[in-house]
Amino acid sequence: MSARAAVAAGAFASESELAARWGEGVRGPLRLEDGRALKVVFPGVPGGASGPDYTGAIVEAGDDLLRGDVELHLRASGWRSHGHHLDPAYAGVVLHVVEANDTGALATLGSGGRAIPVLVLRAAAAGLREGFTPPCAFAAAHGMEVAATLERMGARRLRQKAVRVAPLVESAGTGQALFTLLLETLAGAANRAAFARLARELPLAAILERLDRRYPGVDRPFAAAAELKGAAALLALRRAGLRPLASPARRLELAGALVAGLWPGSERGWPAALQEGTPLRLRAPGLGRGMAVELAVNAVLPVALASGAWAEASVEAAWLALPSPGTYGRLKRLEGWLGHGGGRPFASAARLQGGLLLHRDYCTRGMCGRCPLSGA
Ligand code: SF4
Repeated sequence: MSARAAVAAGAFASESELAARWGEGVRGPLRLEDGRALKVVFPGVPGGASGPDYTGAIVEAGDDLLRGDVELHLRASGWRSHGHHLDPAYAGVVLHVVEANDTGALATLGSGGRAIPVLVLRAAAAGLREGFTPPCAFAAAHGMEVAATLERMGARRLRQKAVRVAPLVESAGTGQALFTLLLETLAGAANRAAFARLARELPLAAILERLDRRYPGVDRPFAAAAELKGAAALLALRRAGLRPLASPARRLELAGALVAGLWPGSERGWPAALQEGTPLRLRAPGLGRGMAVELAVNAVLPVALASGAWAEASVEAAWLALPSPGTYGRLKRLEGWLGHGGGRPFASAARLQGGLLLHRDYCTRGMCGRCPLSGA
């Protein structure tokens, strides 16, 4: 039976079908298993690959306003059989949504015996509706200046990145700080910690010194990549599930090419190639446009700002000029809401960064209705 046919017949075809319907929004009258009325103010935004299904939800359970995560199962017993009662990642769950309450309990017991309200949500229930619309979608549709707000939040995120790297600039120098953030960004989430360790164990100064001493006449990008790969061989790197272009070996080759291009001699400070006031272009064989933007956003401009290598106005101008590297999966829903009238809310890297801040600090924190885009 297809998912649609299953829903029509009164059953969700899968847990992901149930989760998708929750995200679309439900309306009352809804009643919890403990007898209290339930009103969904905001269903939350989808969680990550692990942890609760939705984060940042807001629901009214009787007289209580609850903000937190929502977990969904076809059967209520799924909570224990999946081990969520012992998992601290589920400590923020405020609502357990199920299709069938096979345990018969009035509440689900979370860690420490906390009672989590249970809602039975049937596919054929009349209360279901499609197209939940949060306040930001209404605000955007009624002409709120979304782009300016996103750019303001994006600028805040840039300053946060600069503050984070400032101690490294102070202790290790501008070049080493840039080298570290370039490596961390190339690594992606899968190998960020390992590449950060690589930058500590094989610092930029050591690579540049070895290039001259060990590899006279050898292609510099190749030699730099060889040094990096040799040092990385001692680290635990994740390879499973990564696309070939995102594999550690490929990313270390890119790192070698960047090192050779940015630091062509023994000078290991701020690269002369990243001249203030000129268009910010990172180039290396095999470096795609999206990754070049990611490197500018997460490495070059934060270090330029933290170190004073560029004046603040130059950093801000370069930041605003960067194109979008492409929306992240976790922002898709937000992008749809903000682009209600057919616009492209994340058309630049700065706005996309603002979207990430909004998602992290408001959408996933139960702050819907109180964020800067909630409208007056
Ligand atoms: S927190 Fe703000 S941006 Fe996020 S969904 Fe709610 S209104 Fe929209």
